[in-house]
Amino acid sequence: MSAIDLAHHIHPFCDMKDMARHGTQIMARGEGIWIFDSQGNPYMDAFAGLWCVNIGYGRKEIGEAVMRQMNELPYYNTFFGTSTQPATLLAQKVTSYTQGLMSHVFFTSSGSEATDTWFRLARIYWKVLGQPSKKQVIARRNAYHGSTVAGASLGGMKHMHEQGDLPIEGIHHIGQPYWYADGGDLTPAEFGLKMARELEAKIDELGEENVAAFVGEPIQGAGGVIIPPDTYWPEIERICRARNILLIADEVVCGFGRLGSWFGHQHFGFKPDMASIAKGLSSGYLPIGGVLISEKVAAVLAEAGDINHGYTYSGHPVCATAALENLRIVEEEGLVERVRDDIGPYLAQSLKTLEDHEVVGQVESVGLLGAVQLAKDKSTRQRFKDPDRAGRVVRGFCYDHQLIMRATADRMLISPALIISREEVDGLVQYIRHGLDHLR
Ligand code: PLP
Repeated sequence: MSAIDLAHHIHPFCDMKDMARHGTQIMARGEGIWIFDSQGNPYMDAFAGLWCVNIGYGRKEIGEAVMRQMNELPYYNTFFGTSTQPATLLAQKVTSYTQGLMSHVFFTSSGSEATDTWFRLARIYWKVLGQPSKKQVIARRNAYHGSTVAGASLGGMKHMHEQGDLPIEGIHHIGQPYWYADGGDLTPAEFGLKMARELEAKIDELGEENVAAFVGEPIQGAGGVIIPPDTYWPEIERICRARNILLIADEVVCGFGRLGSWFGHQHFGFKPDMASIAKGLSSGYLPIGGVLISEKVAAVLAEAGDINHGYTYSGHPVCATAALENLRIVEEEGLVERVRDDIGPYLAQSLKTLEDHEVVGQVESVGLLGAVQLAKDKSTRQRFKDPDRAGRVVRGFCYDHQLIMRATADRMLISPALIISREEVDGLVQYIRHGLDHLR
């Protein structure tokens, strides 16, 4: 199977020569937080696939609901004034989690398509309001907003910009609130304000009359699980309101319970004008995403006439069914509350025990999203000379010992399914400790 794969399949975010050396590992089956390869070897998946399998693997209820919908109506579109029952019910359901903030949703098949969607809607919004010059969008370094041309441009990943001549015009980046690396002598609170104020400086540079929106993940995910100081989001929100630009939250990772709230902006207490969603919406069982839209923005879009944007699979009835069934499970099992009150605090407390390790500079988590920051000298926050190598060593050791986690440079990232048990958390932390020992 591996040879066939290598002969015919170009994989996302993979070095093909490297893959040819190691072969493709074929994954075959999943159960809870465990994934089994085609040889039957078990792996603890501390990353929920790609931050998405929130209810865990092997939930037969989803398969059964999907099968019923497949047999009833496998597809119909939501263009030109039609809808389907699953798409309509899902629109009602997802907006109901927003405490009245979002009145509408525009469905997509992925987080990347959601990014392209709000990017266009934000420009349409200002055009309808008679301010067509408000087109520029401000994002952050090391952000990840997807892999489409607009998504990769808005993302702040240098290695992505280098391929394909990005970013496209009209997109600008400010710094990320990464206190451990960039905070210097400032307290986290001071640093949070400083980084938020980079937004104001960038608006001044571009001219308020030219700026449409600012976008940020409540906690930057792929950029390294960068948890902003508490001062950061209130200041960003203040600036967006004072300078009349739309505030967009990318909730693709933080949404649907990962932080112990339905959405990351609820955890940090700010109110975006639009928010992109995907991943945890269906726990990855089928591809579906969307953009949540506030009443304020929806009212303006209603004056736009035709909105010439959409995807064949916007609101796909089978994917919407998978999402509805997933959300039913999240609600019935109280997974959001479980993350907030029980397993999130337990993970935090367990991860904290790693701070006594000589190569750990800091451990941080919110809910079930966490990071272990590696350090060469924790007393001075000095990092390893080659941070990428440090992360690779720990991650590689863990993988060889059947624990799947991810590293962004020298930050080890943790994002398990919301159903992880306390015993599994104990095992996870123990494995990580062995990986850290290996770096000594
Ligand atoms: N936004 C964030 C914050 C993400 O982490 C991702 C994917 O990891 C995306 C957007 C893109 O989502 P997708 O891969 O479904 O296109």
